[in-house]
Amino acid sequence: RRLVVLGGGESGVGTAILGKKEGFEVFVSDKGIIKEEYRKVLEHFEIDWEEQQHTEEKILNADLVMKSPGIPDKVPLVVKLKEAGIPIISEIEFASRYTKATIIGITGSNGKTTTTMLTNHILKEGGMHVGMAGNIGDSYAKMVAEKDFDYYVLEISSFQLDGIVDFKPHIAILTNITPDHLDRYEYKFENYIASKFRIAKNQTKEDYLIYDADDEVIVQWLQKNPVQSKLLPFSISKKLDEGAYLENDKIIIKTHNNTLEMSTDALALEGKHNLKNTMAATTAAKLISIRKETIRRSIENFQGAEHRLEKVLKIHHVQYINDSKATNVNATYYALDSMRTPTVWIVGGVDKGNDYKELMPLVREKVKAIICLGLDNSKIKDAFGNVVDLVVETFAMDEAVKVAYKIAERGDTVLLSPACASFDLFKNYEDRGNQFKEAIKKL
Ligand code: ADP
Repeated sequence: RRLVVLGGGESGVGTAILGKKEGFEVFVSDKGIIKEEYRKVLEHFEIDWEEQQHTEEKILNADLVMKSPGIPDKVPLVVKLKEAGIPIISEIEFASRYTKATIIGITGSNGKTTTTMLTNHILKEGGMHVGMAGNIGDSYAKMVAEKDFDYYVLEISSFQLDGIVDFKPHIAILTNITPDHLDRYEYKFENYIASKFRIAKNQTKEDYLIYDADDEVIVQWLQKNPVQSKLLPFSISKKLDEGAYLENDKIIIKTHNNTLEMSTDALALEGKHNLKNTMAATTAAKLISIRKETIRRSIENFQGAEHRLEKVLKIHHVQYINDSKATNVNATYYALDSMRTPTVWIVGGVDKGNDYKELMPLVREKVKAIICLGLDNSKIKDAFGNVVDLVVETFAMDEAVKVAYKIAERGDTVLLSPACASFDLFKNYEDRGNQFKEAIKKL
């Protein structure tokens, strides 16, 4: 049994280790350079590898291929593999074949990481033996190979879902669906929606699908394409017979005629979107019988994820907030929505075909100045030039933060929530967020 792993990153190397353990003859091939730390691991496990090339004879000889999610389907090698009828799967599919753990799989356009981390946190507080993996942290396959857990909380991208065959989470969470990554889906929103719904494709009536009932895209799709799973919706706008909803200042969760009530006063995470993420995570925790007291405590003491509405510092009564992970308009919508004081908004970067229309009312209401931070700011200037009195262009983080400092007055908020990708001026969104925090510390 020959396993070829395309891509020698975290998930590729993890898959190679698990493959080797399960008796495959493994070959790792990466068109780029494999990081030193990964090369060492491959050599330690005596796994055959190559970099800066794809040796086709060896690859086309595979019985099974694990493709890293970053490699698009249309690259010639992948097309050839498909023509040869060789199965191509993702790490999630491969690793799940070798564990008996209970799996909570979390997907959606926004909120995956936050919901994954919160779910993991609650399970840990509940004393469960739980591993957190997927698009986050260490490789899932490597965990399965090395210390298999009883529970996995997996953050799953649409690319990972494209490569599943039999994979099913016992509990699936679909946070929301808004257009993203359409370049990988022939620019068709339906293709991207279908990809997200693959999370439920192998679920049976024993399994659960937790989803946002306020999200019209999800609701309409479910009406036309019913799933086998038991449905547990959550909503912040209406009362539900089953699932999670708001009543006064409480989150109510109803499952199996059993009700959990939680006050929203002491929630660690702010913003409507985080209310939804909290509902999703706590519904999952309730399904696996974590004690109510533990769930309540966990959502109060959870430390949010870095670069997601992260409070950085207060200087002269101005609060600085790092939301660098907001790489699309929808994420920024929720950030602006959660602002409670006049806001100096730092926005911009690589535009992904953004439509700023839905932000207009929020910007009008909350934003006192816009600081554009990107190589090309023309679209932002066009969109908001007539809505906000002050629009300033900057081309480096230090400069943007200094300008924000000058504009902001006692009681204001300075919010970095770019609504764009970061690759014009930064390595990635983490780099952008870190530079923001550094610049603030220098003030
Ligand atoms: P993902 O892993 O799906 O990218 P994150 O938890 O990292 O999600 O959050 C990404 C961005 O989206 C952050 O700016 C965050 O504030 C925002 N966000 C988080 N949860 C939601 C949600 N449920 N709906 C919309 N935006 C959200």
